[in-house]
Amino acid sequence: MMEQRRLFGTNGIRGIVNEDLTAKFALEIGQSIGTIFNNGRILLGRDGRSSGMLLSSAVASGLMSAGCSVYDIDMIPTPALQYATKTWRFDGGIVITASHNPPEYNGIKVMDADGIEISSEKEVEIEEIYYERRWRIAGWESIGKMNVKTGAIQDYKEAIKRHVDREKIERAQLKVVIDPANSVGALVSPSLLAELGCKVYTVNANIDGSFPGRNPEPTLESLGALCEAVRASRSNLGIAYDGDADRAIFVDETGQPHWGDKSFGIVEKFFLAENPGEKVVTPVSSSQMVNEIAEEYDGEVVWTKVGSTIVSRKMLEVNAKLGGEENGGIFYGPHLAVRDGAMTSALIVEILAKTGKKFSNLVKGLPTYYIHKDKVQCPNQVKQRVLERLLDETKEDRVETVDGVKIWFPDKSWILIRPSGTEPIFRLYSEAKTRRKTMNLISKYKFTLKRLIKSKL
Ligand code: MG
Repeated sequence: MMEQRRLFGTNGIRGIVNEDLTAKFALEIGQSIGTIFNNGRILLGRDGRSSGMLLSSAVASGLMSAGCSVYDIDMIPTPALQYATKTWRFDGGIVITASHNPPEYNGIKVMDADGIEISSEKEVEIEEIYYERRWRIAGWESIGKMNVKTGAIQDYKEAIKRHVDREKIERAQLKVVIDPANSVGALVSPSLLAELGCKVYTVNANIDGSFPGRNPEPTLESLGALCEAVRASRSNLGIAYDGDADRAIFVDETGQPHWGDKSFGIVEKFFLAENPGEKVVTPVSSSQMVNEIAEEYDGEVVWTKVGSTIVSRKMLEVNAKLGGEENGGIFYGPHLAVRDGAMTSALIVEILAKTGKKFSNLVKGLPTYYIHKDKVQCPNQVKQRVLERLLDETKEDRVETVDGVKIWFPDKSWILIRPSGTEPIFRLYSEAKTRRKTMNLISKYKFTLKRLIKSKL
């Protein structure tokens, strides 16, 4: 089923359990991963999915067979495992998670010693070892050992607490409702925020791999129970996580959910107000709001290709302390340059406490733009030619080519057309001051793209 195609997508390997992602596959990919980690010590964790133990045991066997020692930390959010991998000086880390995908999916995310997901070069190396069956098989006397490791979540929570003003948060007496989607966010955030002095309520907080409460993708439409709980408890804030709790989506005190571009704007504003002149890293699909805030607060925006690992690595490269994505992924460098739902939550409650403002008012203080997304099918082999033709046709416009083609218009609206790295599609994103304008841009360029694709087939 997984013959000679890319195994790693934007965030690790994903598939349907016992179809794409079988125990045999997990064993062999574990062996392939173990080969590049060269007898190293590997931290291993998983999210709350029903298939977690099946895949985690198989990956562990593969790693040990290749000579690596495995340190199992059981269920844990991805950013907590990333933090432990770095601070405990492991050679690598692996989380068995499919993040926001539905319950039948699972996946494998691989971290380097710095806690950030491995580079695409290493992914390709693992894939080659897997397909050519060149994985290392250690002699019986040098197979790896299995160890149990505890304390990762406690260390992680203590580290987050050190980055915020605990006294101010405690004094604000905030009420917060948390919705971890019946997954591993439940292991960290409710107790973290309670220890910071918030009054915490929860919904969907028992871990259940069938995700009975809602899908692990925190869309605005799926957060009804959380919004209702915020209103009923008259809380100041609601927080929803995705399946591995690296992304957070916030609900204001009126029970209104806000997409991740808003929370990123709020964090960026307060970060730059306190740290003028700093750099902020974000993908080209993010709102120009990021730039407006940076101009107002004397910051500098560094634009990247789309992908959380790209943002992490760019932050290290340009020495930036803040990164963000529109999907609720916020990267706080002083803690660790990876997207982190619990760290983001602590930053947001700190902002509420310090400003004394309501979340809805903080949102109102941001520049308003509308973003719309869509996609167009396109065979992989013609993507490049279609992009070249598109560039030819847009010579008159202001164009950026950080990732795909981004065309700017005089009224500050833009459209971004980028080929997906994993699927035979083009992704389209547009932003404008009105919803109608974003829709118009998308339909106009869908038409153009379809014409170009047709002419290239
Ligand atoms: Mg995730």
